[in-house]
Amino acid sequence: MPSPLGNGVPWGTLLADGETVARYWSHVLRRGPDACWWWTGGLTDTAHATFRAGSHTTQTSRVVPAHLFGYRLAHGVDSIPAGLVVRHRCDEPPCQNPGHWLLGTRGDNNRDAASRRRLAGHALADVRGPVGRARAVQAAIAAADPDHLDEAIAAALAAGNPTGAHQDSLF
Ligand SMILES: [Zn+2]
Repeated sequence: MPSPLGNGVPWGTLLADGETVARYWSHVLRRGPDACWWWTGGLTDTAHATFRAGSHTTQTSRVVPAHLFGYRLAHGVDSIPAGLVVRHRCDEPPCQNPGHWLLGTRGDNNRDAASRRRLAGHALADVRGPVGRARAVQAAIAAADPDHLDEAIAAALAAGNPTGAHQDSLF
């Protein structure tokens, strides 16, 4: 059985390392309390954020899922009980807004994703797939005039729903 992401990571050491914490935040586009905080660093093939945690002072260095680092940074090193995963209320896997995270089971996650994937206009229905969507947002952020960042991100998101259809909930 594969171990969940993040098992065996010396989280306490990494969270206490100022250089690692600074590197984490350097990849987060922090915005308003309700907005998604987009990740500008590396992405996994499921569009989750990833970065190299550790420095010469921690004597350990490894690539970790950024939301698992960020969740612990916000709630404490032991805040993710065994068997639970950190879910995204916003359904945007790279998002680092602590207000968009909640704990749940893998089953909750799979069930929600399966139903929302069928909703027109929903993040999970993006024709580019999760990685294509996340990369499009990163490209838009990199190219945007800082005064028009929100519009640039909104346009990058909308491009994944070429029909423009939108459904808020099933039935
Ligand atoms: Zn979000």
